[in-house]
Amino acid sequence: MTDAQPIGSSFPRPRRSRQARVSWGSRVVTIGGDAPVRVQAMTNTDTVDAIGTAIQVKELAIAGSELVRITVNTPEAAQAVPHIRDQLDRMGIDVPLIGDFHYNGHRLLTDHPACAQALSKYRINPGNVGKGDKRDKQFAQMIEVAMRHDKPVRIGVNWGSLDQELLAALMDENARRAEPWDAKQVMYQALVQSGIGSADAARELGMDPNQIIISCKVSGVQDLVSVYRALAARCDHALHLGLTEAGMGTKGTVASTAALALLLQEGIGDTIRVSLTPQPGESRTQEVLIALEVLQSLGLRTFNPSVTACPGCGRTTSTVFQELAQQIDVFLRAQMPLWKARYPGVEGMKVAVMGCIVNGPGESKHADIGISLPGTGEAPAAPVFIDGEKAVTLRGDTIAQDFQRIVEDYVARRYAASAR
Ligand code: SF4
Repeated sequence: MTDAQPIGSSFPRPRRSRQARVSWGSRVVTIGGDAPVRVQAMTNTDTVDAIGTAIQVKELAIAGSELVRITVNTPEAAQAVPHIRDQLDRMGIDVPLIGDFHYNGHRLLTDHPACAQALSKYRINPGNVGKGDKRDKQFAQMIEVAMRHDKPVRIGVNWGSLDQELLAALMDENARRAEPWDAKQVMYQALVQSGIGSADAARELGMDPNQIIISCKVSGVQDLVSVYRALAARCDHALHLGLTEAGMGTKGTVASTAALALLLQEGIGDTIRVSLTPQPGESRTQEVLIALEVLQSLGLRTFNPSVTACPGCGRTTSTVFQELAQQIDVFLRAQMPLWKARYPGVEGMKVAVMGCIVNGPGESKHADIGISLPGTGEAPAAPVFIDGEKAVTLRGDTIAQDFQRIVEDYVARRYAASAR
């Protein structure tokens, strides 16, 4: 290796889409263009339960969701929407609400103007907006309401509810090809065509193209990558990204992360949602926390200080360092609401909690602040490194508390300075 090139480069973000604005009151969330990738979530409460829904929206917003979608499926749900909005406003939560419409959205939006006004964006599924000659009319009705109220829309295609008439037409066309495509490729084509075709129809009706966001969700990682690459290449609308029906627990988390990471790395995706099925008793906010972690791990956004911890091995037989890593993580998250306001930049802090001398000092030096705990057979001493230099060595039974205090002092010293 003689003429070595520098390894690594800045993050590739080649795609620059149009920028949409989703607002409520003075809160404006920009999507696409040069805006950061946004995090969305969706409630699973009955929208008719206005208080219960408002409480969950608040939880999701506090967890970090910048837009929250609620289902609007019945006249009763449409009537509840302004009350949910009022309740949120009273609680000081200005997160924009998105209405999720299927089948009867044209009627609900027309019959309930207060609902149409209280929502900040409408999700329209072109696969179930109507059949035959009703389709275009009902789609147009929804777009007209959006324009009247100056609301952006998301054309949200999903392969579970793909426009069957379009798919059948494309299948027929494919059958006439000399060399027919694979059925899956026809389906990809139908998804992309449904999204872009509906966006074109909305533009023909007079909608500002900047106010149109598209999504084409599928539940397979490689399918999603194929579909979004095509979508990104064929239109300049902002794209909402997510693996639909990702599943539960580890499977849902890993599948969503894999799919989102592959596309975000290519600059594809302007908002994301992790469609995780909550485990029994699990908070709905889990999907938000995963979305934040995905963006932070990719270096796209910074939300919370990060804790680097080694996995542990036979060199450390006690659970001391696992407990310390967890305590520090919990401590940092608990402090963040206060620190965020008081110490600008603290969300970018890196903390290391390491199990032994092998990688402990090295990793701790790479962090802003790190501790290397004693492994099995090592002297019972835990050196602490601050800004790459060994600052102090902790000993005894109060290492965890002492380290926490050192972290607190470090934050106050370093980030209070950046506030001036
Ligand atoms: S730092 Fe030490 S304890 Fe941690 S994984 Fe490496 S060798 Fe094992």
